[in-house]
Amino acid sequence: MVFIKKTKSLCPECFKPVEAEVYDEEGKVWIKKDCPEHGHFKNTYWSDSELYKRVSAFDPSIKSVENPQVNNDMGCPNNCGICSDHETSTVLGLIDVTNRCNLKCPVCFANAAISKKLYEPSYEEIRQMLKSLRDLKPIPTPAIQYAGGEPTVRKDIVGLIKLAKEEGFSHTQIATNGLRLARKKILAQELADAGLNTVYLQFDGVSEEPYIYNRGKNLLPQKIEAIENCRKANLGIVLVPTIVKGVNDQQIGDIINFAINNIDIIHGVNFQPVSFAGRTPANQVEKQRITIPDFINLVEKQTKQIHLDDFYPPSAMEPVSHFIGALEGEEPSATFNCHQHCGIATYIFIENGKIVPVTEFIDVDRFLEFLDDGAQKIDDGGFGIKKRVLFSATKELPKIIDRDKTPESLEISKILLNVFKNRSYDSLREFHRNSLLISCMHFMDPFNFDEDRVKKCVIHYAVPDGRIIPFCTMNSMYRQGVEDEFSVPFKPENISKKIKN
Ligand code: SF4
Ligand code: SF4
Repeated sequence: MVFIKKTKSLCPECFKPVEAEVYDEEGKVWIKKDCPEHGHFKNTYWSDSELYKRVSAFDPSIKSVENPQVNNDMGCPNNCGICSDHETSTVLGLIDVTNRCNLKCPVCFANAAISKKLYEPSYEEIRQMLKSLRDLKPIPTPAIQYAGGEPTVRKDIVGLIKLAKEEGFSHTQIATNGLRLARKKILAQELADAGLNTVYLQFDGVSEEPYIYNRGKNLLPQKIEAIENCRKANLGIVLVPTIVKGVNDQQIGDIINFAINNIDIIHGVNFQPVSFAGRTPANQVEKQRITIPDFINLVEKQTKQIHLDDFYPPSAMEPVSHFIGALEGEEPSATFNCHQHCGIATYIFIENGKIVPVTEFIDVDRFLEFLDDGAQKIDDGGFGIKKRVLFSATKELPKIIDRDKTPESLEISKILLNVFKNRSYDSLREFHRNSLLISCMHFMDPFNFDEDRVKKCVIHYAVPDGRIIPFCTMNSMYRQGVEDEFSVPFKPENISKKIKN
């Protein structure tokens, strides 16, 4: 057994914070803890210690908010609000706009009809929540996602997208099951016209079985119809499969292929291994757990063209914004610099029907090193330093990029030089337009909860009393309290009253 770190976790029985230890044993990384009342727990943290070590090198830089709402009096994770101990800013803000839904998924906990409570912030409350995200300093939250429940059951959802744009969010997305996008053909166009950037579409697989297990009925035809309606409205989609062992973990390659076949409108697939609510027996959790290493092994096995080494944690990309920020003489813009063990991603391109991961034609490690070094030189200053660094880029990039292996449609050196020289973000969009982002975020549950990770969370819920709560503490600790405080009885008159506000 090799000790890795001490941290704080949660007891899966009573959800109280407890001291925990992360360690390496027989090629796997584990987390263990003792609750004075409920005993000892040992659970998988990462199922491959070699990969854990490789990724550990990419710890994100600390960028705390300058205007936290609360102090850290009670110690993490008891102060969420956001507190002065939190180590990253909010990159993606989330607002649950309702807990109503037009489905009753067996795996869902937010069903209004079952809970008999309606959680549905008013339009004005949502405006205030948007403002609290935009008021964060030094970096106002750039992106917002409306979630729920099912956000499209709100009659004012189009207005809420406009509202987010008015409040200054450059990126807006909705997390949806797609049923209303399928049924109401005009909705995709209305949302696109209002400024919606991305439909974050729940998509569990390419056959009916995963839907029947996860959602209670076959929803594949509706998903296809929703995608068609988004295509007509030129509204970009990211597919979001919830991966459950034995249900759809054998469809990961097929889902990637489905996205490739619709690459004109699908820009990414963000796989989310199912997380376990407390009270799931620990031995069941161990049987069903899919960690990030399991996920990328499945990708490799099922696609045979995307490999373990093609994946990097999002925090690895920090040098890109550091470099651009240094050129502009500004603070780096918000990057998705969550904890290195929270997520993993790669870009793929398609050339003559074959998958080409970005690592096949860019030496990513060398590229990141070049950017880091360049940004440092600019920060250190010196006569004509920006020009000199840019000049060195024209010489270095051809060594970092293998032209023979670069997809024909992609003028990658030109794109990168455009981004650096002219700060042309349109060029970066061109890179994204031709590629598909394959990513995985492993949300935590009380079994594998790690204070170290949650302190570096960049996905934060805004709630009606002005608090900003990291995703994994919200869902492990705070959700019940927030919903109890701000819910009203689930009656039709309350729904209309809320929406009129
Ligand atoms: S998760 Fe972040 S905001 Fe919450 S208590 Fe810990 S440091 Fe503070
Ligand atoms: S949501 Fe959870 S898994 Fe994702 S960045 Fe935040 S703490 Fe990490």
